[in-house]
Amino acid sequence: MKNLNVQKMKQAGFVLFLGMAFISCEKNPITLVLHDPIYPSGSQAVTYSAERVTEGSIETAKLYETVSTINSSGTITTAGTETLLETWDDPGGDLTFTKSSGHGNNKLVTYRWVFTTPDQTKSFKVTYATRPYAVTGMPAPVYAQGDPDDVFDLVFIPDTDITNINTFYNHCRGMIRESFFDEPHTQFWRRQYNFYINTERGHATDFDNRDVDGPHQLPSNNANLSFAEGRALLHQNDLRDWASGGVFSSEMQNRGTVMHEAGHGLYGLADEYGGGSHWQADDFPNNWSSLAGAQGAASDYGNCKDDGDAVEMGSDNYYRLCVSSCQMVTTGLNHTEYDCPCRSRITYVVFDNASN
Ligand SMILES: [Zn+2]
Repeated sequence: MKNLNVQKMKQAGFVLFLGMAFISCEKNPITLVLHDPIYPSGSQAVTYSAERVTEGSIETAKLYETVSTINSSGTITTAGTETLLETWDDPGGDLTFTKSSGHGNNKLVTYRWVFTTPDQTKSFKVTYATRPYAVTGMPAPVYAQGDPDDVFDLVFIPDTDITNINTFYNHCRGMIRESFFDEPHTQFWRRQYNFYINTERGHATDFDNRDVDGPHQLPSNNANLSFAEGRALLHQNDLRDWASGGVFSSEMQNRGTVMHEAGHGLYGLADEYGGGSHWQADDFPNNWSSLAGAQGAASDYGNCKDDGDAVEMGSDNYYRLCVSSCQMVTTGLNHTEYDCPCRSRITYVVFDNASN
């Protein structure tokens, strides 16, 4: 992780931002834009959707699309021009539009939604590739929004144990919609993610069976994935999941496990349960190495915490302020939410990632 000067951030008023209530610049309705299937073949129809997750009126919505052709080295050989697909005036509910003809092979498709509300005009621009991905040895972008230097890049890697690759693709979409775009704090920061699907497979091993099975087996193009802050090895069989060599594993249907492991892999959060991995980060920790340290930090979180919230994790000599349902306590099928110390750490890493 790149190191951001915290003193500078404090001077810039950054710390005031951590309350989050102060910077909800996005006016209602909060909209989530997505496409389905997330990684379509060149001949598949694609449905674009804009979900309203909060109440609020939209005066006009417009959906645009640009289709470009790329070659095996990733060069754009034919740049598309942006065309308007649909306009909605004063629409209610969620919006969908289906492009029934496929986009063709070797394509990069960019769509852009523009919503005009009574309070603001906002736009969302997303790029995805058609399958098979044209660029040799590289993961296919399936939901890309920003410069990889400025946002989190997360690559979904299919495990060799997956029997139906379409099930895997659907779960990758589920990881985006039902994990990152659903947990409130990562939903708030949803523009800060690029998601990819790797063409090469890996194989996850069980944490409790490492002596026999060894570490996670990395995909053959692993060296090309070094740009990504997160590599999620998604598998079918039940395993005790773990992180190794920058790769973390999860059952492909487990929205909570991915959010917990992303807590480690993307945001540098420590475990918040007894017997987990603990450390006190220099900046915006979620673990403290003393009770007094945790109690002293409570006032940093405004009304969210007081010093009575500081508890030891098991008998590990480390302390937390987060509630016992915090995502860094739990894993499994369903995600929970990050409590405020974890949220502050995530916000810090978002800014760190964007500004270095
Ligand atoms: Zn927490």
